[in-house]
Amino acid sequence: MVALESAPPRSSSMETRREGWLPPKSFSSSAMAFEPKCDAASASETERVARSMRVLVAGAGALGCEILRTLALYGVKEIAVIDMDVIEESNLNRQSLFSTENIGQSKALTAAAALRERFRDCDVVGYHAAIQDMPLDFFRSFQVIVSGLDSVEARRWLNSCIFHIARPVGLESARNASYAPVLIDGGTEGLAGQARTIRPYETACIECTVDLYANEGTQYPLCTVVGTPREPEHCIEYAASALWPSQHNGSLGPLDPYNAEHIEWVYGRARQRAEQFGIDGVTVSLVKHVLQHSVPAVATTNAFIGAACALEVVKLANGISHPDATWLAFNGTSGICIQSLHIDRRRSCPICGPESRITIHMSGKAPLRELVELLRTHPELRCRNPSLVWAYRPIYMSAPRPLEEVTRQNLDKPLNQILIGNQNAENSAEFILTLTDSGLRLSREMHLILH
Ligand SMILES: [Zn+2]
Repeated sequence: MVALESAPPRSSSMETRREGWLPPKSFSSSAMAFEPKCDAASASETERVARSMRVLVAGAGALGCEILRTLALYGVKEIAVIDMDVIEESNLNRQSLFSTENIGQSKALTAAAALRERFRDCDVVGYHAAIQDMPLDFFRSFQVIVSGLDSVEARRWLNSCIFHIARPVGLESARNASYAPVLIDGGTEGLAGQARTIRPYETACIECTVDLYANEGTQYPLCTVVGTPREPEHCIEYAASALWPSQHNGSLGPLDPYNAEHIEWVYGRARQRAEQFGIDGVTVSLVKHVLQHSVPAVATTNAFIGAACALEVVKLANGISHPDATWLAFNGTSGICIQSLHIDRRRSCPICGPESRITIHMSGKAPLRELVELLRTHPELRCRNPSLVWAYRPIYMSAPRPLEEVTRQNLDKPLNQILIGNQNAENSAEFILTLTDSGLRLSREMHLILH
């Protein structure tokens, strides 16, 4: 039987406080967070605090543009924006800081320039880069980080970054946590959206609620894609991730999911692989869906959620953000529905929970592949690139590719054979493995109990 140790009942926020989950510092009283720098006697309190803040906006797409514009209108004077994408013509109907002459330019640099031009006393810096390429000190230098990202995995990565800042390695107690930025996360999908405030060790984090996010289209286990494809998406992912880099060898550059020639190439190879494994359903439209991770965007929803995120920044700055109502959910799909929610922290959250020990029960006869797939698909873990080390020995490494190729041979071996040396062992045994996930900055002790 495969089972993950069930999480204890979730506690209310008041219970949480009684048990000693107090935040590392009271946000509004943190001198580091909002040390006033502006002495302008005529400035209102809101203006004065807004001028003292350093805010990072992650993502300069449709939502990011709205967040940036509203922050500047509120009077925030120090803003940074980071995005790795360039502007495309299809962006222009909803990304309000760009125009036709900006096509092909960096979103982050162009958005920063547009804000500087309109708000002359606003210091805006753009970073044309992926958030995953920036050091922790970069994120540490901001009081608030507002996420307008379009990917669940990027959100999870940013969330784990903030907790790495809040809890230096080796300090397992929230009371020992140091200062970390507050994360405000915005997200939209069509006519629905949400904005939530994440204060380390005080509110639920992204990982606490990871089971609420739908799996993204690209989350296919590498071992399944390579070894045992079952769905048409697996064949498409194989053609795009494995065949394209090896067969083109860099001659055509990286795969462009919007290039018709590239799409046609992937479609042809995916069809061949699907026929080889007797799988139906590979179509051009499915290839586009898988490659482009397409999510519908509505400009008005982005404006609404962007404004809500910016308003939370100002409320935080003024100490009036309500700690028990940190999640705004907007649903315009069937009428107008707006809710403010309180979400409890998950005690077994691998990022912020006090009981984050991961315990997995499995049959010793099960192959390692089954354990790796469980780590990827379990709703409370959702590992992206799980790697397992036991007694300093890599059992399976999902990255880098040379290590993956070396350890891939273990995937079909029974766990008993790998860990006990006898695939017919009958006795129960417990092993402590180190689970890491390079895609999520996750490193956790994992207790594997074989039966
Ligand atoms: Zn958490």
